[in-house]
Amino acid sequence: MPQEHEIDLDPEEQAILRAWRLLVSEHYLEDIQHLQGNPGIIHGFEIAHHLICQYEDLKIAFHLKPTRFHDLGHQVMREQFDEHMVRMRPVIRVVELDTDYRRRIDTLRMRDRNQVVSITVKINDISPAYGWVTEAVYECKRCKEQTTIKQRRARERESPSHCEACFTRMLKRLDMEEEPFAVRPPRPNFVMSSEHSNYEDVQDIHMCQAVFNEKGELVHVSDEDEMVGIVSDDLVGELVKGTCVRLNGIVRVEPFPNRTFSKDTRRILSLQVLSVEPLEGEA
Ligand SMILES: [Zn+2]
Repeated sequence: MPQEHEIDLDPEEQAILRAWRLLVSEHYLEDIQHLQGNPGIIHGFEIAHHLICQYEDLKIAFHLKPTRFHDLGHQVMREQFDEHMVRMRPVIRVVELDTDYRRRIDTLRMRDRNQVVSITVKINDISPAYGWVTEAVYECKRCKEQTTIKQRRARERESPSHCEACFTRMLKRLDMEEEPFAVRPPRPNFVMSSEHSNYEDVQDIHMCQAVFNEKGELVHVSDEDEMVGIVSDDLVGELVKGTCVRLNGIVRVEPFPNRTFSKDTRRILSLQVLSVEPLEGEA
């Protein structure tokens, strides 16, 4: 796994990385050491939100840039996993969110996109597990050089516009004036390498608002306020249809599910689930 060049990160991101390293070294090193030799593929780390809040930079990042917060956290976790020769892939699952994050499905709007929310829901439906290509690796048919392109789920697969290696070679040829006028930029000629690409297991879910009273009894399920969501990695296979749970996640905007043309502007809200919690004794 190539390391991100930290020189390219701005001071704010450097601060988030430092805070993550501190949190992991102060609270999770022993757990990571115990994972050595574990044959599993993914390890989900449940991290309490109040622990995150003890590190100011992490508290702010979780609130304002939750995606970046998780990316940088995974980077730090992977460093520690490599150092302790743990072969698994770490996944951060922040739980026990502050009550300020609690929302009801019927109050969510487009302006809430990319925000973290915590909702209590009844799971109405769960799709079979399927995979999608998160990062597609393309191989240039001419020079075999590989180019990696991050993908978006349920969107058209994106491919590279040109091969950097072939392009550099063309510039060199131009420079040496070997064929000064006949040179044209090489046409992209790629093949996707399924073997080298990265995948993620996911399940689509349909859910509706569940309302509980102070005693933790379910008082109401609102079928009108349905929302879709997606669970990934270690959460796949964990949810049970018909049960109520608390879902913490990031509000995302997705294309309309039954669109018949690709440039349809209609969008719906979807929850990218970050963590799942049982509802025992819910207040
Ligand atoms: Zn090439």
